[in-house]
Amino acid sequence: MPELPEVETVRRQLGPHLTGRRITRTTVSDPLWCSPAPADQVEDAVTGRRIESVDRRGKYLTFALEDEIYLVMHLRMTGNLLFVPGGHEAEPRFLRVRFVLDDAGQVLFTDQRRFGTGVVLAGHDALTDYFDARLGVEPLGPEFTVDALRALARGRRAPVKAFLLNQERVAGVGNIYADEALFRARIHPLKPVGTLRRPKLAALRDAVVESLRLGIDSKGATIDDFRNADGAYGSFQDRFLVHLRAGEPCTRCGTTIRKIRAAGRGTYFCPKCQPRPRV
Ligand SMILES: [Zn+2]
Repeated sequence: MPELPEVETVRRQLGPHLTGRRITRTTVSDPLWCSPAPADQVEDAVTGRRIESVDRRGKYLTFALEDEIYLVMHLRMTGNLLFVPGGHEAEPRFLRVRFVLDDAGQVLFTDQRRFGTGVVLAGHDALTDYFDARLGVEPLGPEFTVDALRALARGRRAPVKAFLLNQERVAGVGNIYADEALFRARIHPLKPVGTLRRPKLAALRDAVVESLRLGIDSKGATIDDFRNADGAYGSFQDRFLVHLRAGEPCTRCGTTIRKIRAAGRGTYFCPKCQPRPRV
């Protein structure tokens, strides 16, 4: 599933192609994508409008259109946004939405499992409300401080892995980057987040930021066939420290990496670097 670095990679690749362009045609071929809003309503709302910017919040990607109209998209499990330059034909599999631009470039939303979504919001307040209802702190923003993390964690008994995956706490972190961050911070994934002391929270904050930044530097990770907007694959999977490395030696101490289930997800950690919490 695309996480923050994968979505940020798509944003950075689409931005230069889309910013300032006008959407001249929109075809929603799978109405489930924008349900319960009717497909023609969404098509009408975005068609003819100029794209002022391509933005990201957590794992959401937004086309900010003129007149304060926002198209907010989520890739979920298998969604992809592909850019096709003008003059090129493209009929990819699992196509759900096609945007044609005034320079004949196209943006295609493909999605094998069809969990991805698109919603149109009118007005900046509606956009803020939409995100506030769903997302916590933005981990690459200035507001992601140790104090902010401590306030979020205080009194919570949730395992730290589950805490990191909860988008209403920290937005954009998914299974890969949670595992990588916990390894970097030397925290066991099942440690109750409310019991982490300030130095550990500081280490965790830094580790989350570093893991996400490295992911972005690698243009994201490619698992489950995720591709970025240029149709290329990211390479962060080659730099995983623990994720998907069960049975291999820890890069830090040589101990065999283990896999457990935490928060319903396959979770990878080093039993020596990330000692199990005493109960
Ligand atoms: Zn280790």
